[in-house]
This record gives sequence, structure tokens and C-alpha cells, in this order.
Amino acid sequence: MGAVEEVSSVFDTILVLDFGSQYSHLITRRLREFNVYAEMLPCTQKISELKWKPKGVILSGGPYSVYAEDAPHVDRAIFELGVPILGICYGLQELAWIAGVDVGRGDKREYGRATLHVEDIGCPLFKDVDNSTVWMSHGDKLHGLPDGFKVIATTENSPYCGIANESKAIYGIQFHPEVTHSSQGKQLLRNFSVDVCGATQNWTMENFVDTEIQRIKTLVGPTAEVIGAVSGGVDSTVAAKLMTEAIGDRFHAILVDNGVLRLNEAANVKKTLQEGLGINLTVVDASDEFLSKLKGVTDPEKKRKIIGNTFIHVFEREAAKIHPKSGEAIEFLLQGTLYPDVIESISFKGPSQTIKTHHNVGGLLENMKLKLIEPLRELFKDEVRHLGELLGISHELVWRHPFPGPGIAIRVLGEVTKEQVEIARKADHIYIEEIRKAGLYNKISQAFACLLPVKSVGVMGDQRTYDQVIALRAIETTDFMTADWFPFEHDFLKHVASRIVNEVDGVARVTYDITSKPPATVEWE
Ligand code: GLN
Repeated sequence: MGAVEEVSSVFDTILVLDFGSQYSHLITRRLREFNVYAEMLPCTQKISELKWKPKGVILSGGPYSVYAEDAPHVDRAIFELGVPILGICYGLQELAWIAGVDVGRGDKREYGRATLHVEDIGCPLFKDVDNSTVWMSHGDKLHGLPDGFKVIATTENSPYCGIANESKAIYGIQFHPEVTHSSQGKQLLRNFSVDVCGATQNWTMENFVDTEIQRIKTLVGPTAEVIGAVSGGVDSTVAAKLMTEAIGDRFHAILVDNGVLRLNEAANVKKTLQEGLGINLTVVDASDEFLSKLKGVTDPEKKRKIIGNTFIHVFEREAAKIHPKSGEAIEFLLQGTLYPDVIESISFKGPSQTIKTHHNVGGLLENMKLKLIEPLRELFKDEVRHLGELLGISHELVWRHPFPGPGIAIRVLGEVTKEQVEIARKADHIYIEEIRKAGLYNKISQAFACLLPVKSVGVMGDQRTYDQVIALRAIETTDFMTADWFPFEHDFLKHVASRIVNEVDGVARVTYDITSKPPATVEWE
């Protein structure tokens, strides 16, 4: 097997060292927006263990005080790399502290908007940046200037808001350029990455596709085979299509029909992935197996566990039926992990840092002795969507709302039976169909129907009915951490409710969920 080049060795990469600020990942995000590739690693990263050389280093903000006993500190080998360094907030304080400057508690905390005064208009960091609004979030301050540095910017409360040692290309700023409240922050980050570090702006999905296909080919080699689960969702479909482009039929996709997928989903996925995208796919109908295990279970956590464990079991059993042409066992497992999951597991959380393993893969890797292959692990969600479009995946699939792993099982509150799933499924189908018809699908981040375990009285055709209740939910969000319910027109809701009650047997009443997250969650279970 030839040497496998990591993305960070192919593209000029800015290294972002994370000191635990809630904004750290936004630094990476912003840089990629102007086509400079950036990767985030914890602030404790040993530079000698890096397998690639960064074009520049950014030290993020963080909740600690540099002078505190247990404060995290950067590996001083960053100064030997000979590349530009930018410290942001804690990062600035860290640079000053290392240089022996007294950093201490300021008399005034500075939180929120402040006005930047550029003191050195010739400084490359401030090209096309003027006296503008910047976002502050700090309580500590520098009590002096490190040797060899000069002041390049101030605010009313921060005489050392920006400092620079231009001969060594080391810069520090007290504000957060990565948040959108800093109106010219992105320009500043561009100036640092492109002008000061000299990073090439070639991080485009077109370039990524080529590099990634090559990388997969080298990694897998000429004969080995790869297996992976698909769900019909964006991430697994994009990952599967990428694998197919790289190694053709040596990639085996498995769709497990767990009996709690959306209406006609297994058939639709088969059609789209197999016929449409040429993916080597096996569909396994294990609905009875899942539903019989779910019998009598009402606790949401138990439902999730049962579905997760049964999935592993079925997947392993089906995988054993695949016999690679090479005669060797399958060597790799494909997983559609995205960058936010990676960030979540590497971001710096202080001394008690724990590494989270993803979903169910841990078990599969061990039991089946597989190696993990994660072609999307460098990408944010919108980058994956863009990649999907480049790979010829339909707009509709690429922009699909997220769907939970346990599927409709957690949208049927109470016991999950075939009949209950059918009711929830049909109601959901009508709801989504109407949302699409009204042209609202892409304005909504996630929408679904769930079936409540209560009965309610109704009247239909002069007959008293005593049937169940469907709750509709639709939310708008950018990150799924917080969400607002979607303000449908009354006529739309009226129409959907009437269709559901008329067309779905067993439903007497429809309600619309008007709770935001928090305090509610997106799903009901
Ligand atoms: N804890 C430091 C302070 O309060 C740094 C804060 C930050 O990086 N946002 O000044």
C-alpha cells in the first residue's frame, strides 16, 4: 500500500489550536468560507507529532486565565515552525504570558460589542479593515507589551487590543474575528491566512473530490473490499457514492430495513442508490426482527438501545454473506462521520477531557476486525451537501431533513407496533408532501408527524369515533442546538389536519407543536 496523504498534506492548511472557546470551530469555518483549508486540534497537541506542516497557526480563545495554575499552555515548538501565528483572546494572552508579560484580571470585564481603533494602518492584518465593530468576551488583560511587539489596535477598554511582532509574523488580538458580530472579522482572518501566511485559496469541493477519490484508492489498495451502511440520508449516500467512484463494486452498501423507516423508504432508497447512483447495494428486510424485539417496550432509551443492538446484529449477519472476489475478508468499514462530530470529540474540555466514540461503530470494528474509513470527516454539513451535488446526487436527497437512527420508533410514543408505525408513517407522508407542495421544505430544518399514545373523541359521518392523536412538528434552526417552531399559515395547517384525519384510519385529531428548543427537544422521545 502506498503512502496515504492526508487532506492537510495536500491543501495548504492553517492549524487552529483550540483552548476550549465556544467559538473555536467558527475559526475553521470562516477560513474555509474563503477557500483556505483549516484544521482544529486541541491546544495540547505536540507539534512533533503532527504529520504535516501548517502554513500558519491560530491560537483560539478559551475560558481559562493564562496565569492560573491549571491553565492550558501551547507547545512552544510552534515558535520553531517558522510560520505566522495569530492569537485570539486567550491566544493573545497566552502569547504575552509566554513572553513574560504580566497578564491579570482587568478592572472591567469587556463583553459584547466594542469599537476597534486601528493604530497601525500599514499592518497587513488590517488591509481593508477600518475602525469597525468587534466582539469582545474577556475579563483578563495584558499589563504590558512583549519585547519586540508594537500596538496595532486599541479599544476604549483595551490598550493592547491588537499587538504585532512583524519581523516574526506573530500577531495577537483581544477580540473574536470569527463571530459575525465582528463586522470585518472575516476580512482580518483572510488577511492573516492568505496575505501573511501565504495559504493558497484552493479548498474547493471540486478539488476535494479528486484528492479524496485518489486518497481512498490508495488507502484501500487494488483488491481490498469495503462495507458500509446506508440510510437514505445525505451523509451515508454521499459517502457511499464517493466510495463507488473510487473503488466501484468493491464497496458494498447495506440498507437495513428496520421496520421503522419512512413510508416506501426502502424501495425508494433502492431505486435512487442502486439504479440512479450505481451503488452496489443490498437491502435487508429485517422489519419483523426489529418489531418483535420492540414488542411491549415504551421507554424511549430502551427503544434506542434495542434498535442500535439489533442493527449491529443484522449488519454483521448480512456482512458475513458477502464474499469478496479476492477471497480475503472485508477489510474496511465506511462511516459517514462529519467534522462537527470530530470537533466534538477533539475540542479541548480541560483536564477531564473525554473522547466520544461514534454511535455504533465501536462494536462493529472490534467484532468484525474492520478498519474505519471516514471520507467526510473533514467536512461540515453544507460542504457535504455541495459535494453530494457535485457527485450527481439529486437536489431533493441532498437537502433532505435529518431523520433519527431509531426512525419512526421514537415518533410512535408508547409501544411500537406495525399498525402504529403505519399510522405515523402515513400521517408523516401527507404532512411532508404538503410542505413540499407549499414550497416550504427548504425553509424548514426538520419536520415530522408523531403519534401520541392517547385516544380522543371525535365525530365522523354522524358516528362517534374514539381514535388517536397526531402531533405535527416543524422547526427552524441553524445548528440544532436551539430551534424555533415554524410559523405556518393557518390555512396550511387546516388543510394538512383535514387530509390526515380523512385519509389516515385511526386518527381523530391533529395538533401542532408550538414549543421551541429549549425547553423542548426537536424529537418527542
Ligand atoms: N479567560 C480569558 C479572559 O477572560 C480569555 C477569554 C477568551 O478567550 N474568550 O480574558
